[in-house]
Parts: sequence; C-alpha cells; structure tokens
Amino acid sequence: MLKVIKDLDLKGKKVFIRVDFNVPVKDCKVSDDTRIVEALETILYAKNSGAKVILGSHLGRPKGEKNLDYTLKVVADYINEKKFFDIKFVDDCIGVDVEHAIEAMNYGDVLLLENLRFYKGEEKNDKDFTAQLGAFYDVYINDAFGTSHRKHSSTYGLAEFIKIKAAGFLVEKEAKYFDAIIKSPAHPFAAIVGGAKISDKIGVINSLIDVADIILIGGAMAYTFLKYNDYSVGTSMVEDDAMDTVRKIYEKADQKNVSINLPLDHIVSDKFCGDPVICSEISIPDNYMGLDIGERSVAAYKELLLPCKTVLWNGPMGVFESDAYAKGTFSIADILSKLDNATVIVGGGDSVSAVKKAGVSDKIAHISTGGGASLEYIEFGKLPCIEVLR
Ligand code: AMP
Repeated sequence: MLKVIKDLDLKGKKVFIRVDFNVPVKDCKVSDDTRIVEALETILYAKNSGAKVILGSHLGRPKGEKNLDYTLKVVADYINEKKFFDIKFVDDCIGVDVEHAIEAMNYGDVLLLENLRFYKGEEKNDKDFTAQLGAFYDVYINDAFGTSHRKHSSTYGLAEFIKIKAAGFLVEKEAKYFDAIIKSPAHPFAAIVGGAKISDKIGVINSLIDVADIILIGGAMAYTFLKYNDYSVGTSMVEDDAMDTVRKIYEKADQKNVSINLPLDHIVSDKFCGDPVICSEISIPDNYMGLDIGERSVAAYKELLLPCKTVLWNGPMGVFESDAYAKGTFSIADILSKLDNATVIVGGGDSVSAVKKAGVSDKIAHISTGGGASLEYIEFGKLPCIEVLR
C-alpha cells in the first residue's frame, strides 16, 4: 500500500514537500503554470492541516552551481502575484538561513526553498547533502511525479532519512493510473506509440506487448518499422541499427498475440518541414520524407480505437510542432477525446502538449505530468522514489 498524505497527522509538524516546480520560464516570468497548479492540492492540504510547509524543487539544469538564471524566486513571485496562497522564499535550501526562515514561520505558512540543484549533492543523492537538506523536518511528502524515476537527495534520499513519509495527491493519482494500466487494464487495450526514436521507447514497447492487445505506431519510428517490412521510406528518419530490435518486437508480439499496426499513408515533403505533399500509399517515393501520418491511417487507427476500454498514448504521430504536419497527431487527440467507454491515459511530454493544443485535455481521464517518469513506470512497473514510500 502506498501511504498518502491524508493518512498522516500534519498539525504542528514541519513538513517538507518535494514538488515539481520545474516550469518553463521566459524573460524571468513563469510561462506555463501547469506544474504549479498540479501541486496546489497537496500544498493547500498541508497548509490547511496546520503544518509549517516547506517546498523543495529543482528548476532547469544549473549543474550543481548557484546560477540565478535558475532561481525559484520567480515561482514564489508568480504564486504571490496569482494569489494562489501566500508564500515566502529563502535563497538557499540548506543551512542556517533556512533554519531561521523555518523558525520564523507560523503553522499554516508556506516557504519555498531555493533550487535544490544549486548543490551537486542533490543529483548524486549524496548522504551529507541529504542530511543537511532533511535536518529540519518531521514529515516528508513526495509530490514530484516527474522526477520520481530519479534517485536524487530530495526524491529518494530524504524518503529514507525522514521516518514519517507519504505520497502527495499528485503522486497518488499518477501511481493509481499507471498501476491499473500495468496490473489490471480493461481490455481491449490499445497503446499508441509515436515520437522520434525506437531506441528511446523500446523498453516501453516491450512492456506494453505484455499488457496491451494492439499497438499503433506513428511518428518517425514508424519508418523504421516500415523499412523492416520492406516498404520504401524515401529519406524518412530511419534507425538502421534498430532492425534487430524491431525483429524482436515482432517476435514477442507474435508470441503474445499482439497486433502491431503501421501507417497506411503519409504527409511527406522533399525536405524537413518543406511544403507538404500527400502520399496515399504505404511506400514513400525516393527523395521524400514522411513527416506525419495521413488520413487513411487516421481512419484505420480510429476503427481500432473505437472498441477499446483502455488507451495509452505516448509520442506524436508526426512533426506536430509544424502546423503542416500536426493533423495526424491532433486527429488522434480528437479521437481519444471522444472515446466514451475507455480510460485514456496520455503519458508525458509531446503528447501532452498535443492534447492541450488540440483543446481536449478536459476529456482525457489522465494526463501524466511526467514524460520520462511515465515511460519508466510502464517499463519497470514501478518507480524508485514511489517504492521507497511504500
Ligand atoms: P519523442 O520525444 O521521442 O516523443 O519525439 C517527439 C519528437 O518526434 C517531436 O519533436 C516530433 O517533431 C518528432 N517527430 C515525430 N514524427 C517525426 C517524423 N516523421 N520525422 C521526424 N521527426 C518526427
């Protein structure tokens, strides 16, 4: 059983919450507050329970050095400006300044620490750093799903260092959906896998073959599959060294009776993101590259998706950042938003921004906040920084 924040008595306690405030920042301003909004439920619960709430996060990759381009003060300012709740900021995450700032808090106050990755010890899960980081707290809460696949001081070390610990609401929700997908998905179960490289997603595809009934392939990786099947793919992005991997995927899928489906047509161009041309055949002419799936593929994928009870989607169907090659990805988002009887889970990264851009995020059962974390959850069936809370 995963212990969750609601199981703990937080009143009069000093509570460290590892949040994921790794938000995009442009011109010293937060440009997308999704991750802040996702963390609100846990923060407000702890605050309203009468705890001193101390938030820790990383922002960007300052590589273990204090670099104010990555200061979390912008997040504290944003939270105050938006009046989500009152928050104070301290410009360190360990040491006497933090100790004094915590002493000065009233119960029910919230304090944000400076970027944890200003110290090298954070990403190394260094024991001394963990001891300094955890020195002041009674309770540890992990609500940073997006970094729960990384054994860092604040995500893993502290969970061992502080005896009383639990998952926040966001981690609880993510774990619930991914556990259900891995352990007891409703069938038929379709997995849609797209994006750039097979090599990045091979672990996930292998695990999905164990649980899903059909796999729909899109994105650049479809061309490696098509080439393996002797179709011509023109100048499309192909991983020639992944052919053996593809062979093994087909072997395993055969054994498990899982069908692997590839695009039937494409939107192609004579150069990367040049003028779009419809290619209504599976084979792509020489000198053209596939940059999106075409209408026939969308229709075929729709037929396969309609009866499904569980759908997992990770990775775009094409170069959706460019309007000319976004239609396949947006069409899939639209189809998924209309599947009334299915639990649809969109796992991280580009597919999440596609669902948002398509304006259908409120119709999706679960949109994961973690790209890498969601892939590792599916691949390994668990994440270290969640296991350590169990
Ligand atoms: P991933 O991070 O592996 O999910 O890959 C996402 C990236 O794959 C996006 O930036 C897409 O533009 C890119 N992508 C998708 N389809 C293609 C394609 N047919 N050719 C080149 N890049 C693609």
